Amino acid sequence: MIEKKRDIRRLSQEAITEFFEAHNEQSFRAKQVYQWLWQKSASNFDEMTNLSKSTRTLLNANFNFNLLEVDLMQRSKDGTIKNAVKLHDGAFVESVLIPTEKRITACVSSQVGCSLDCTFCATASLKRMRNLGPDEIYDQVVVIHNQGKEYFGRPLTNIVFMGMGEPLLNYNNVLAAIEKITDPKGLGLSPRRITLSTIGVPKLIKKMADDGVKFNLAISLHSAIEEKRAKLMPLAHKSATLVDLRESLQYWYAKTGRGVTFEYVIWKDLNDTEQDVKALAKFCGAIPTKVNIIQYNPIDNGPYTQASQESVDMYKDILESKGIITTIRHSRGQDIDAACGQLANKVEE
Ligand code: SAH
Repeated sequence: MIEKKRDIRRLSQEAITEFFEAHNEQSFRAKQVYQWLWQKSASNFDEMTNLSKSTRTLLNANFNFNLLEVDLMQRSKDGTIKNAVKLHDGAFVESVLIPTEKRITACVSSQVGCSLDCTFCATASLKRMRNLGPDEIYDQVVVIHNQGKEYFGRPLTNIVFMGMGEPLLNYNNVLAAIEKITDPKGLGLSPRRITLSTIGVPKLIKKMADDGVKFNLAISLHSAIEEKRAKLMPLAHKSATLVDLRESLQYWYAKTGRGVTFEYVIWKDLNDTEQDVKALAKFCGAIPTKVNIIQYNPIDNGPYTQASQESVDMYKDILESKGIITTIRHSRGQDIDAACGQLANKVEE
């Protein structure tokens, strides 16, 4: 039986070292390979020019690269680029480049599909589901970084995990990817420029705090009233109540000293009353928070509609009167549907 080659990028530096030792190669070669993989984003062994031909042949015989490819790239009038990215097994995810005056932001996916069932989200209807590997997350970042240079003459500056999937339900791989993106031996991007967006899984929020993560945290809240949030995000509600969520955020703040951002869509006749804003303001009182009001991207046959401008203004007025920083994000790339139901419109300038 022919054994399937393994993707070299699923190996730690230690595992590569062990491989070299087992094959009577000098172990410092592992460090060089690792640099090629994660610092120089190599996509084949021939690029690794400081390795001997025989070492490259050895690697080639044992490992491969499960590369992703941009299957379809769409550009919006506002500059946003949406990529439908094809993974090695034929599955698709979306990765979006959002340009602003000062930033080039990558909005990346963490899973193929999503196991959550948020009733307003397009990804929820996708049937296929698997976690992305660290390399598949990293590769999306490299794609956007290269597009930034090619189309805007600027490098990537920020990353948001607001594409498909729930990053905390792919905890290890997302953190491994972030490690490679932030490590000086990797891409060397500051973790302060990375935001992980989650429905908020209390146990894992606490774990992140314990693990000492340095990136920013955003919580998709959408309602601070239990029954309403349960209707919008049934599985988020099933796994935790708002009381649990609040408690985990207090833990996060106590450990990290950093606040969080709440992402919030206001829908007509759903969460557009004064009572809704007051509940939100109260919830924000737990720890330092910012509120990011995001525009709804209607999904086909969805039951919801974007609230009126008056409702949005009311939210902003009430929240700001209580000293809560509130930003309003307009959707980017609407003409190319870059929001894909959820991507991209929450990027801070
Ligand atoms: N699962 C993670 C990250 C992916 S969704 C999370 O829930 O945060 C990224 C953001 O897009 C979330 O805030 C989500 O609530 C929001 N979103 C999903 N569908 C949307 C839609 N149709 N319009 C606007 N925002 C949407």
